[in-house]
Amino acid sequence: MESKAIKKLVILGGGTAGWMAAALMIRMLGKVVDITLVESDQIGTVGVGEATIPPILTFNQALGLDEKEFLRETKGSIKLGIQFENWSKEGESYMHAFGSIGKDFPLCDFHNFWIRYREQGGTDSYWDYSLNYQAAVQNKFAQLGKIPNTNLPGITYAYHFDAGLYAKFLRRQAEGRGVKRVEGKVTNVQKCAETGFVEQLALENGQVVDGDLFVDCSGFVGLLIDKAVGSEYESWKQWLPCDRAIALPSGSPEYIPPFTRSVAHGAGWQWQIPLQHRTGNGLVYSSSHWSDEQARSVLFDNLPGEPLAEPRVIPFRTGHRREQWCKNVVSLGLASGFLEPLESTSIHLVQSAATRLIKCFPHRGIRKEDVSEFNRQSRVEMERIRDFIILHYKANQRRDTDFWRHCEDMAIPDSLHEKMELFRATGKVFRDYDDLFTEIAWYQVMIGQGLVPEDHHIIADGLNDGQLNDLMQSLKTLVQGTVKQLPRHEEFLSAMLRKKSK
Ligand SMILES: Cc1cc2nc3c(=O)[nH]c(=O)nc-3n(C[C@H](O)[C@H](O)[C@H](O)COP(=O)(O)OP(=O)(O)OC[C@H]3O[C@@H](n4cnc5c(N)ncnc54)[C@H](O)[C@@H]3O)c2cc1C
Repeated sequence: MESKAIKKLVILGGGTAGWMAAALMIRMLGKVVDITLVESDQIGTVGVGEATIPPILTFNQALGLDEKEFLRETKGSIKLGIQFENWSKEGESYMHAFGSIGKDFPLCDFHNFWIRYREQGGTDSYWDYSLNYQAAVQNKFAQLGKIPNTNLPGITYAYHFDAGLYAKFLRRQAEGRGVKRVEGKVTNVQKCAETGFVEQLALENGQVVDGDLFVDCSGFVGLLIDKAVGSEYESWKQWLPCDRAIALPSGSPEYIPPFTRSVAHGAGWQWQIPLQHRTGNGLVYSSSHWSDEQARSVLFDNLPGEPLAEPRVIPFRTGHRREQWCKNVVSLGLASGFLEPLESTSIHLVQSAATRLIKCFPHRGIRKEDVSEFNRQSRVEMERIRDFIILHYKANQRRDTDFWRHCEDMAIPDSLHEKMELFRATGKVFRDYDDLFTEIAWYQVMIGQGLVPEDHHIIADGLNDGQLNDLMQSLKTLVQGTVKQLPRHEEFLSAMLRKKSK
């Protein structure tokens, strides 16, 4: 045992990460651990981060949040996927739609049938069989567990929301359940001379907060994980060339599309995230290829509405802490590392790291076994997401700027290289137990970016041409017919917002 029993947990930081951690920890550990959160209004939060992925529903359910209240309080909307525009070639687009596509056969994913269908002259796109995609582009949504009268999965969704409002909403939940909030700027961190463990946070206003375990949610600065206990940062800049973002909100959209837009430009890409009251916008770019001024002008040229604030430039370092848990400090959120928001994974990483910490919770004292397992899982999770994001840059067919030519030429991790080559040769992707993204997510990005497999699975040859054609037509008709019955996204939202919360 490397420390005494953990009775006092201190969370430093009240951004999305801090309040997500606080809300979950008090719900799960509140009866046995005393929880304090320290934050500084003077410093503020990063203030961006509005698109999520489907596991957020599980997180909200674990907290016992009411969906109607959540959507109302966070000005949220529904997200069915991410539309990637100009990523494979200028003028082309595809979607990473959540959920399933077509119909899977035992041991053979649907895309194999689609590849064979294309080989015999079929012209329908892979996304003609995606319920999520068709609903998204037709601006439709309803909560649908299954396609009616079938065993086929229905719609899988996540949310867009105002992350600042989400943090406030969670703060109310967390404080209501007993989290103590301390306002003030930490100016000094007291450590044990013998072990190097953090013992106390000293605040500018003279207050002192002591604890047994510290959760560092202090954002990019990493006040505890970096400055106090010195966990090294591993950069992934060689694979992910963007290192800055410029962000600003624009006025209410005319309608609220139920998907995120990611539009590639000459040296980066732009996001558009529609909320009830405004659109979140930003541009992620490479400072080796564009100045802030260039990025600003591209963003303004492509804004979907009136700007509501001055743009903010946010520099970032892509990578992660080699030890996300070091001594008695566990880092979550931006303090633990950062992968650019292309696949909306940061809030999810907070969720999964907070969950992991609870699973590994060292109530009798910190054990090196818990720490190393926590760090192993955190590393593998980040590396797999990293590979998925690099795929978007590497497997593109744009050669029009230095930036895109650089992406084509850059070396990639072996793990990704092997995955791409396997898909190219055989059409197969295998998902490891701890992969966040499903095979279907990988198929969509690979196919969407123009990676064409040379083969398909033999099981897809089990149907003759006529049977295959019938299968494809009936699935397409089923998807279109289902979408037709769905309400518009705005209708769903206003009905939801009108409903009384439980
Ligand atoms: C450009 C960009 C776009 C993003 N888009 C998405 C997205 O679409 N989807 C997604 O999932 N994620 C996204 N993210 C990530 C998301 O914003 C963050 O993961 C999330 O907001 C968590 O931030 P945080 O709480 O770790 O840090 P912060 O929001 O920076 O909060 C840090 C907290 O620590 C406190 N603090 C710091 N120093 C001290 C001190 N000395 N004393 C006291 N308090 C202190 C601050 O006051 C603040 O409360 C994006 C990030 C960036 C940079």
